[in-house]
Amino acid sequence: MIDLFSDTHTIPDAGMRAAMAAAEVGDEQLGEDPTTKRLLERVTQLLDKEAALFLPTGSMCNKVAVAAFTRPGDALVCDHRAHVLRAEGGGAAALSGVVIEPIVTGRGHFTPEQLEAVLNPGTLYQSRTALVALEQTHNFAGGTVWPLGQYQAVADVAHRHGAAVFTDGARMLNAAAATGTTAAQWAAPVDAIWIDFSKGLGGPGGAAIAGSKDFVARANRFKFLFGGGMRQSGFLAAAALYGLDHNLDRLAMDNALARRLGDGLAALGLEVIAPESNMVFFTPPRGIDPPAMVAAMAKAGVRSWATKTHIRLVTHLGVSAEDVEAALVAIARVVKDR
Ligand SMILES: *Cc1c(COP(=O)(O)O)cnc(C)c1O
Repeated sequence: MIDLFSDTHTIPDAGMRAAMAAAEVGDEQLGEDPTTKRLLERVTQLLDKEAALFLPTGSMCNKVAVAAFTRPGDALVCDHRAHVLRAEGGGAAALSGVVIEPIVTGRGHFTPEQLEAVLNPGTLYQSRTALVALEQTHNFAGGTVWPLGQYQAVADVAHRHGAAVFTDGARMLNAAAATGTTAAQWAAPVDAIWIDFSKGLGGPGGAAIAGSKDFVARANRFKFLFGGGMRQSGFLAAAALYGLDHNLDRLAMDNALARRLGDGLAALGLEVIAPESNMVFFTPPRGIDPPAMVAAMAKAGVRSWATKTHIRLVTHLGVSAEDVEAALVAIARVVKDR
């Protein structure tokens, strides 16, 4: 099976497992895990922020960011297909009591004007817009990459109106690789940003959120409140450090393989959202719905995932150039036989 379901399906390799086995560990909750401390120094440097916090998942990064920047009744603005809105069980609303104000966009990126139109200082009747969430890359819009200028302009507008801004950077490092920018350039315009170690970097879990010392202190309180304090987290941190050392530079290859996959699918006559990072979304051929297409592709040896309208394919550490060619041959067969 060629597994294009998600970059969360990467399996730690021998080198990563060796690094984990050798990790120096201690009690993370007491700040005594040396490997976690090393990881956080590394992330703080990479993102050029004052401090960072290690959390079990990226989803918990979103949760603590929302909690730390808002009060119950405040509004959170995000794109209408944002992960924080669509894929976390309503956690932002349930745990922080925020009203979510989604902006409808085509590619997951709203304009400064669209943001300006929904920002609200708060009245006795209306919610104060406390927080704006950006997603880089935007997952459900197609792995799309925010243009840096638009990203900066949107953050500026939010700040001018007194709202904080954070970035769900689950795949920000793919965006950096795709655009020849640094991670710090995506961190600079926003108050907090997180990266995930369990996706393109190939780790088994863990994510880190960075921001000011004050933000990280508030976020840490919510980390404990939500049950995210760990113990010997150095085993996970060692995997994350290994991912940063060995798998960061190869994210560009994932992006390139996604482009090749997109070109190959378009050549089959399929309607493809031009890939900008490591994801390819395409519309199934007429007469076959997304779940049926996923099933037919699985039978042909390609694992994928469907939204309501599209098939999603994701390239990652476990997918070679040969796998991509083989997947295209298999999908061609599915399209022809349907
Ligand atoms: C995967 C993902 C998350 C959640 O990360 P986990 O580490 O799986 O909890 C959040 N946002 C986006 C955009 C994602 O793709």
